[in-house]
Amino acid sequence: MSEKSNSINLNESAGLNKKRVSFHTLGCRLNFSETGSIAQGFVDRGYEVVDFGAPSDVTFINTCTVTDGADSTCRNLIRKAYRSSPEGKIVVAGCYAQMDSERISKMTGVDLVLGTSEKYKVFDYLEEDSEQTVHIDKTASFYGAATSEAEGHTRAFLKIQDGCNYVCSFCIIPQARGRSRALPIAEAIENAKKVIDQGFKEIVLTGVNIGEYEVNTGERLTDLVSQLLELEGLERLRLSSVEPNTITDELLDVFASSPKFMDHFHIPMQSGDDEILTLMRRRYSVDQYKEIINKVISRFPNAGIGADIICGFPGETQEQFNHTYALLKELPITHFHVFPYSSRKNTLAARMENHIQHGVKKERVRALKMFGEAKLSMFAEDQVGSSNEVLFERQNDKGFWEGYTKNYVRVWVKSKSDSKNQIRHVYLNDFVEGQLRGEILN
Ligand code: SF4
Repeated sequence: MSEKSNSINLNESAGLNKKRVSFHTLGCRLNFSETGSIAQGFVDRGYEVVDFGAPSDVTFINTCTVTDGADSTCRNLIRKAYRSSPEGKIVVAGCYAQMDSERISKMTGVDLVLGTSEKYKVFDYLEEDSEQTVHIDKTASFYGAATSEAEGHTRAFLKIQDGCNYVCSFCIIPQARGRSRALPIAEAIENAKKVIDQGFKEIVLTGVNIGEYEVNTGERLTDLVSQLLELEGLERLRLSSVEPNTITDELLDVFASSPKFMDHFHIPMQSGDDEILTLMRRRYSVDQYKEIINKVISRFPNAGIGADIICGFPGETQEQFNHTYALLKELPITHFHVFPYSSRKNTLAARMENHIQHGVKKERVRALKMFGEAKLSMFAEDQVGSSNEVLFERQNDKGFWEGYTKNYVRVWVKSKSDSKNQIRHVYLNDFVEGQLRGEILN
């Protein structure tokens, strides 16, 4: 804890000498949508958003605690923030803040530690002249959020759901984010209109477990998606991660009914072995997972499909790992998100026997990552000779404009015109040094 005063007058920020705020976000897209809304709140109060690491009056770190690696990255970021802005306020918020507030509050330079619900009240806490550093609320309210112009993204992450009622044995998220809750359709549509009015062409629906949407609201996710697809000004819609057991035929039919829905899915697999899936308390078997992927591909033959995979779950044998490898080989999964199993306090898996040695986990992760890179390259190379709509995000330091196809392959294009936030029809003509290249047709 620093010796700095905890209070800050947010109204001082209006005027010539704007106060500066910087952000760093770790973890899932939900965190990014939430940082977006909080960044907009600072901008509305007259702040200028500067890059993380630049001198700032306030540094806001939105944390993640999915693995112990994420925890230690958060602590390194706090140290970095203090080095670059020793006089500024440092706010540490989100999942890791919720789970390890005491340790964080003792770190040099930290002024505020805000849990997963309290982070939205950062403005109140900054104005308060209080010595209290830690604010954690376990009642878990719902706060809507969406990426904002303030954060400079091209795709808008729109939060429609938070928390989770599942009890996957390895997962700490239900403890960090609480029970599942969701935003009613009418409010989600209003929030979507706001981001479209800001100029966003693409929305990514986000949540911890968006397949639970109906359970919380009594309204159907299919109805929300249908209404979003009809919104004027919205050109592209994606879903972030969706649990396989919550993907219905009807949902897939709604997606397939509109060209605005992108043929890109993120469907966590975690393991390709039935015994491990049971120990993980996942709600599907290997055969059910295969069935879902095949249904997706039958409607979207050129889909990019991402999957999360955990290597080295307690007791995972080499043979069981091989089953995961074989399933990833068999299925048209294109984007691998591979993590070593990380023991999280107060989870069922943490108490299991036969935890796998660090070196073995590392080797399994390495093998899957290499395989994943090869599969993504093959998928990208397969696109050569076709055309696709690309939403451009930025010009890179080699002078190419970069953006994503509908099926989520990154493309580089040479263009003299400013293509940021433009959707262009692109002929994909080459695959060079691991990069898909194209030329703009319109
Ligand atoms: S579905 Fe499972 S892995 Fe995903 S947040 Fe809920 S408990 Fe965690």
